[in-house]
This record gives sequence, structure tokens and C-alpha cells, in this order.
Amino acid sequence: MHCVAALFLSCLVLMPGVVLGQAASVQDVPLLFPGSKNPMKKWQTERIAEGVYGFRYTFYRNIFIVTDEGVIATDPMNAEAAAVMRREIRQITPQPVRFVSYSHSHWDHVSGGKLFKEEGASFVAQKGCAENFVENPHPDVVVPDITYGDRYEIELGGKSLEMLYFGPSHDSCLVVMVVKPANLLFMVDTANPPDGWAMFYNPAVSEDRVWHMVPFFSRVQALVEARGIKTVIGAHMTMGIDPLTGRFGIIPGTQGPATVIAERLAFWSALIDVVRAELAQGASPGDVPDRLVERRVLAEQISGYEPEKMHILLRRITSYAITGE
Ligand SMILES: [Zn+2]
Repeated sequence: MHCVAALFLSCLVLMPGVVLGQAASVQDVPLLFPGSKNPMKKWQTERIAEGVYGFRYTFYRNIFIVTDEGVIATDPMNAEAAAVMRREIRQITPQPVRFVSYSHSHWDHVSGGKLFKEEGASFVAQKGCAENFVENPHPDVVVPDITYGDRYEIELGGKSLEMLYFGPSHDSCLVVMVVKPANLLFMVDTANPPDGWAMFYNPAVSEDRVWHMVPFFSRVQALVEARGIKTVIGAHMTMGIDPLTGRFGIIPGTQGPATVIAERLAFWSALIDVVRAELAQGASPGDVPDRLVERRVLAEQISGYEPEKMHILLRRITSYAITGE
């Protein structure tokens, strides 16, 4: 589980009287989560811009781009989600899916692309993802046909999807995606609009490079400023007050202001700064997480602050600060 939404998946409850369908005949079952007053449809396809769509399946989201020469898709998520997505695309265009671009290497986002492979799509991923799939293969992950280093752009039918690699972050190969000409930024597992100060969903994800989040987000912020990007699409949702309904629950909104990037940069910078400050004051490294959690440092700024998660994050950051490991 590698995402904000994953936090909630284990406690998912279905509305009474409904049964999940099999993959071949997936039922659109409303989802309701403990504490949430906003039941959601199981999936939803949303037009974001001309030829640009967001496809949400449970708490996961990808985007796809429709052109007169074919479709550019992103993370297929899993076989069931991909089958539903294929149906949704067919309702919009008869064009085939020509490309599938992976955001990173985690199976919960990039499984299930086989049906797109069978219709002839080329799979595109940062080269580090291809290495991860060799070291840690999964039978439902289609391995990429095209790999790249720092940048790759898929151009099709007057639109394009540009992938940019800014170094390690949530794994070794995560990229950010820019949709052109709409100038939208698609971020997976690293920032979910609208709240850049949301508590990190799972601080124990082994691949997360907590120390590298600051250079990563600095580069994303520089991109946002250089390109004049105003809108970010997130791959997950957060809990909070839905601005549309005023009710607490899942905020289903697809898009948010690009300020979420600066906020996330500030979030990670603040975590590192408080550890450094504590060490500078002579605290024993082993005591740093306890001292910061006991004083509830940053608890007011971080929405959904959880002391246990904070403690794990602070331990990891302290370790890197004093040993580089
Ligand atoms: Zn992930």
C-alpha cells in the first residue's frame, strides 16, 4: 500500500445490501468510509480539459489523453480498474490506447496493463522502474518497452505527455507528468491537492526517501514556476472538509492549485529542520524523535497529525542526519 488512500482501504465498508462483482462484470458499488459522510461511486471519469480525463477507481486516480491518433494512458492500477477504464475510454473514442506511461514502480499503481498491451500499446517508464521490475517482479505488471533517464515526451495527435525525473523521492524512479497544451501537472503518491500539509500516510514505506523529498520538491516547484503551471492533479484523495458540500469526508476533487507543491516542500523542509535544530541543541540522536513528539512539534501545522507516524518519520530523518543512511 503506497498511497494516502491505502490508509483507508483496509477499513473499506460497502453500502448495505450490495456485493462486489467479479472482474469481468465489475459493479459500480458506492464506497463509504468510516468517519466520512460522502459516499462515492466506485469509479468516475471526469473531463479535466479538452481531450484530458481523470479516471478515479476507488481511491486511485490516473489520467488519460484522447487524440485523433490514439490515446495516451497512465498507470493502469490493476486488472479490474484497467478493464473499467478501457470501457470508459471506449465511450469517449474509438481510438486505441497507443501508450501507457508509468508514474513509478509500485504495483498498486502499475499492475493490470495487459489488456492495453494486447491492443498494441507501448509501455513507457523511467529506467529505474524497469530495474525495479527485474529485482522485484510482479506477474501483473507489464514491463516497459521504452525507458528513459531524465525526460521523455509522448507526442500524439497534437497533444503530449511529458515525464520528468527529478531524482529519488517516493521510490527510485517516480516521475512527474505534464499534460500539454493544457499545462496540468499530474503527481502520484507525493502530493494530493488541496492539502500539502497532510500527514504522511505511511512513514514506513521502505522505498520512500524522506531525505530526498526536499530536493525533489524544490525541482518540482522550479518546474511549476518556470512553466506557469497553475493546476495539479493528484492520484489520491484526502480526508477533510469538502469545499463543495461543507461536509467532512473524502474530498473527491481531482484538481487543486499548484500551491500544494510549495506546501509539500515546506512540510518536508520543516521535518528536517526540527530534527537538525534538536541535534544542534545537543540532543542525543536516539532521543530526538521522543523529544519532538512529546512537545508535539509541528502538530498544529500538520493536518491529521499522528504521533506514532511522526515518530517513525523523525527516526528515519534523524538516522540520515547523523549517519547518511
Ligand atoms: Zn507508490
